[in-house]
Amino acid sequence: MENFDCVVIGGGMVGAASALSLANLGLRVAVVEQFKPKEFAKEQPLDLRVSAISLASQHLLTQLNCWQQIKQWRTCQYKRLGVWELPYAYTEFNAKDIAQEHLGDIVENRLLQLALWQELNSNQNIFLYCPESLVDIEQSTDNVIVTLSNSTIATKLLIGADGANSKVRQLAGIGITGWDYQQSAMLINVETEFSQQDITWQQFTPSGPVAFLPLPGQSELGGYASLVWYHSKAEIKRLASISNAQLTSEIHQYFPKRLGKVKVIDKASFPLTRRHANSYQHKRILLVGDAAHTINPLAGQGVNLGFKDVKALQNVIASAIANGQSWHSDTVLGGYEKARRHDNLLMMSTMDALYTSFSHPSSLVKFARNLGFLAINKLPLINTQIKNRALAYACGVTLTE
Ligand SMILES: Cc1cc2nc3c(=O)[nH]c(=O)nc-3n(C[C@H](O)[C@H](O)[C@H](O)COP(=O)(O)OP(=O)(O)OC[C@H]3O[C@@H](n4cnc5c(N)ncnc54)[C@H](O)[C@@H]3O)c2cc1C
Repeated sequence: MENFDCVVIGGGMVGAASALSLANLGLRVAVVEQFKPKEFAKEQPLDLRVSAISLASQHLLTQLNCWQQIKQWRTCQYKRLGVWELPYAYTEFNAKDIAQEHLGDIVENRLLQLALWQELNSNQNIFLYCPESLVDIEQSTDNVIVTLSNSTIATKLLIGADGANSKVRQLAGIGITGWDYQQSAMLINVETEFSQQDITWQQFTPSGPVAFLPLPGQSELGGYASLVWYHSKAEIKRLASISNAQLTSEIHQYFPKRLGKVKVIDKASFPLTRRHANSYQHKRILLVGDAAHTINPLAGQGVNLGFKDVKALQNVIASAIANGQSWHSDTVLGGYEKARRHDNLLMMSTMDALYTSFSHPSSLVKFARNLGFLAINKLPLINTQIKNRALAYACGVTLTE
């Protein structure tokens, strides 16, 4: 039976980044993934699944030698972030306010994964098992035996990076707390009348937010964008069943006028759920990314939290190796959980507070929250103390006083 230092189940964005960062520390790592990512070609249409990649995540991807490749393929940089409910309380966050050139880039998930896979393929410490999938695990004090569909391997540490419905988490008997938001989100790729923009925006409405994320390239109409439409499950089901031409017409009625004219190219919908694993590590098994936490996608933080997990894991293991400690001991892995649990919980709770506050029907609450936005805009002290700090936190940068 082949033995590894680490076996990572799931070669998605977070799993692939975890594997690379640990292989770069000199560990022998196996990656088990069901599906191989498709090669890139310029003429391929833009994928529906896109993420707003923060500056901190870009830093990690640069360190893993992937960011340059992703930029060469295609991304759309954004410098401004607009948020509002009522037009008078429109608030804009700007990269300049936190001394940065941009706030992040919108990137297709599959390109992120593909760039990481290029590095996996050329790393001598990495062994790919694909297409393969996890069947069972057997934990002991010395190792974990991992049964896959076509082979059995052993490892000192098993990392579950297998997404929201993690089989690793279930087989390890790690419970979750969470709930269903009773809402769905529809992702819609559109051609836009306006050419590529440097702003991403979100308007809160009583039935849920609508969001605009700019995408790269020129279309027949002008540019491209990804729209996110949050609504009740029933309404999203209805929207999913109508033709692209009908959906285009409903977008024109429902979205704010600043969107301009659009033409729907493609669409897909996802239920919104919140899940948090009760523990991130248990007897040589460790969870990262969506296997450990799923968050309301309101502020586009999901994969960014996953990349923060990767960085924290790399830090604790690197420092254990440097100090001659057993890098897979409970104490070291407990350090990873300590570094990440509070931060993930804070971000999840902040998103929930925003979500709940903006779906509150009371006109008094509505007035209060728009007053809050107005104060953030107009009062210089609040502006620098709250607005810029919140922005720096979301982008993963430290503000210099
Ligand atoms: C509507 C919506 C919008 C979003 N927008 C954003 C955004 O703007 N910014 C952002 O940061 N995040 C966003 N997210 C969240 C983001 O997509 C996730 O956080 C991210 O995909 C998690 O990455 P992951 O690698 O942990 O898991 P996944 O992407 O789910 O990858 C898991 C991998 O494991 C593999 N796998 C699963 N089971 C097995 C098995 N048994 N054996 C082998 N392999 C297996 C799968 O094939 C997959 O490749 C959004 C989510 C939603 C629903």
